[in-house]
Amino acid sequence: MKDTFKHQGMRKKLVETLKKKEIKDKSVLKAIGKIPRHLFMDSGFIDHAYVDKAFPIAADQTISQPYTVAFQSELMEVKPRDKVLEIGTGSGYQTAVLLELGAKVYSIERQQELFKKTSKFLPKIGYRAKKLIFGDGYKGMPEEAPFKSIIVTAGAPYVPNPLLSQLEIGGRLVIPVGDDVQVMTLFIRKGPKDFEKHEFGDFRFVPMLEDKN
Ligand code: SAH
Repeated sequence: MKDTFKHQGMRKKLVETLKKKEIKDKSVLKAIGKIPRHLFMDSGFIDHAYVDKAFPIAADQTISQPYTVAFQSELMEVKPRDKVLEIGTGSGYQTAVLLELGAKVYSIERQQELFKKTSKFLPKIGYRAKKLIFGDGYKGMPEEAPFKSIIVTAGAPYVPNPLLSQLEIGGRLVIPVGDDVQVMTLFIRKGPKDFEKHEFGDFRFVPMLEDKN
C-alpha cells in the first residue's frame, strides 16, 4: 500500500491529460491528482493505473476511465457537505473522488464480493463514506433521501424512477443511459414533477443489472 514519487508524477501527467480533454473543474482535477488510483486495482496492474483507461477489477467489473469519473463528477457540481448517492461502488475510486470533493457519500453495490472488498479497503486508506450498502441501485436509498446529487456508474437501460424521486428540488442525477452504448444524461429537478434533461455524448459502461448478486 505505497504511494511513491513515481506514482505522484504519473498522476500529475494524468491530470494534464484530463485538462487537455477539457475537464475544467479545479476541485475534480485536484481530487484525481491526490487519490492513489493504483491502490484501487489489483497489484499486478499497477502500471495501468495512471493511463486514461477503464480497467478490470473483481467480479467482471471495471474501474471507470479517469476521464469518465472526472466528466460525471463535474456534471454533479458537488459542493462540500452535499449529500450524494452513488450507484455502483465498484472499486470505490469514484467514491473517493466524491469524498475528496467534501460530499457525504452513500453508495450501493450489487456484487457481494466487490461490496465486501471495497467496504474494507476504503477506510484503510482513510476514505469514510456515510454508508456503503449491498443492494440494488435501481431502488436507490429511500431511507436517506433526498439527495443533492445522484451518480450512476453503470450503463442503465432506462432511467429508474426511484432515483428521480430521491432528488431534492434543484438536485442533479447523472446517469449513462442505453444498452450497448450509453448517452451521458443529466436530469435537474426543477419541481416535484418537473425535470430538465441534458445529454452529453456517448460512453461505454458495464451494464446496470437488476437485483443483487
Ligand atoms: N464507480 C466504480 C465503477 C464500477 S463499474 C469504480 O470507479 O470502480 C459499475 C459497478 O456498478 C459494478 O461494480 C457493478 O457491480 C455495479 N452495479 C451494476 N448494477 C448495479 C445495481 N443495480 N445496483 C448497484 N450496483 C450496480
